Amino acid sequence: MRMILMGPPGAGKGTQAKVVAEHFGIPAISTGDIFRANVSRGTPLGKKAQEYMDAGEYVPDEVTNLMVRARIDEPDAEPGFLLDGYPRTQAQVADLDDMLAAEGASLDAVLELTVDTDEVVQRLLKRAEIDGRADDTEDVIRHRMKVYDEETAPLAAVYRDRGLLHQVDGMGEMDEVSDRLTAVLATLQS
Ligand code: AMP
Repeated sequence: MRMILMGPPGAGKGTQAKVVAEHFGIPAISTGDIFRANVSRGTPLGKKAQEYMDAGEYVPDEVTNLMVRARIDEPDAEPGFLLDGYPRTQAQVADLDDMLAAEGASLDAVLELTVDTDEVVQRLLKRAEIDGRADDTEDVIRHRMKVYDEETAPLAAVYRDRGLLHQVDGMGEMDEVSDRLTAVLATLQS
């Protein structure tokens, strides 16, 4: 299973990605988590990424694509993977297509969590209180939503045209959303 989980910042992608990945016994690969780990370790990659992340901008495609190439080449990703937060731009879609084609592989499904923007902003402000993430101030949150709408939301149509898109209502309790996702996943397996 090679899958993508899409959805705006605060849609609960990280939590749901773990549920889906566990269901299939594949790694959940979060580009945001990999960037954050590099920032906290002070690696060269972290240094390149930090200013973009703090401003709510996307890290440049070349940097992100190289990082994803290296990650999906790792042995645990051989049976499949769930990408959380990637691809986010047209250039990343194209690069992922190349990566998969080089391995003779293809995508099985794209899951999109749909949410109400106001609720998402509230969730992010709450998370900011708990985690204190530098990219969770209100201005940056609003900017991240704008960047998502402009650059990433349109990618759903690309995958819909390929017959891969499954939209799932991301509103409500975490467990309810997991149940909806699991129901979609059951249809994929049969
Ligand atoms: P996330 O945890 O997925 O919300 O990502 C946090 C931040 O990491 C984003 O706001 C971007 O700055 C950066 N980032 C994560 N994934 C990508 C990506 N696919 N392309 C560019 N930047 C990314």
